[in-house]
Amino acid sequence: MAGRLAPTLASSDLPLAGPGELVVSEVFGPTFQGEGRSLGQRAGFVRLGTCNLDCGRGPGATWACDTAYTWDWEHYSPAAELSVRPVDDIVADLTAMDVALLVITGGEPLIQQRRLVPLLHAATGRGWTVEVETNGTIAPLPEVAGLVSRFNVSPKVQGSGVARAVALRPRALAAFLATGKAVFKFVASSAAELDDIAEVVARGRLAPVMIMPAGTEPEQVVRVARELADPVLARGWDLTVRLHVLLWGNERAR
Ligand code: SF4
Repeated sequence: MAGRLAPTLASSDLPLAGPGELVVSEVFGPTFQGEGRSLGQRAGFVRLGTCNLDCGRGPGATWACDTAYTWDWEHYSPAAELSVRPVDDIVADLTAMDVALLVITGGEPLIQQRRLVPLLHAATGRGWTVEVETNGTIAPLPEVAGLVSRFNVSPKVQGSGVARAVALRPRALAAFLATGKAVFKFVASSAAELDDIAEVVARGRLAPVMIMPAGTEPEQVVRVARELADPVLARGWDLTVRLHVLLWGNERAR
């Protein structure tokens, strides 16, 4: 049911992380950042476990979460999908990738933002650029905002099937805007969804805005991107594709 907390937060089987640890779905790379302003840049990824939304499960959803294995414990096992990892181990994996860009994603990574701080310090200390991909429901702590180079904020609108009062948190969105480091990246399955996005953008005075075609198969990403291109240009927004999907389809850890 849309609007409830995702099954992840109700599970008693979730691993518990202590200080200096994170609940991780996967650490992978080197690969390319597949979406947004840094598309095509060589990067290492840390995908954290759990999410506070359940995109694609509610009525009216036009697309589904492609990382449901990070949170959907009705269909996946947390024991199989998640692990508790010391930050030092994660940093060692990333160092071996020889990348200059770290992308922290999820799930919803800011659920663990207090425990993210040591990883952010380690990354910035090594001169890495850090992007955090978030659904925009949890305001970043000042310390986190200070260490992150860019927030790729993806507010969930009607096509996600998540109830608006759950998916859109005006104060959190305003906090991201105030960092001066946010790009607001909306998923759309068709040009018909752009009016709804425009309403959310206008209400929150969100900028800059980027539209991303939904899709987990290359043909779908290309078809939707072609449909979106001219209407997105007409609205003065930017467009991104999903490079990893064009290259590797729905393969994990890409
Ligand atoms: S917010 Fe992101 S990770 Fe969470 S359910 Fe939605 S698409 Fe999936």
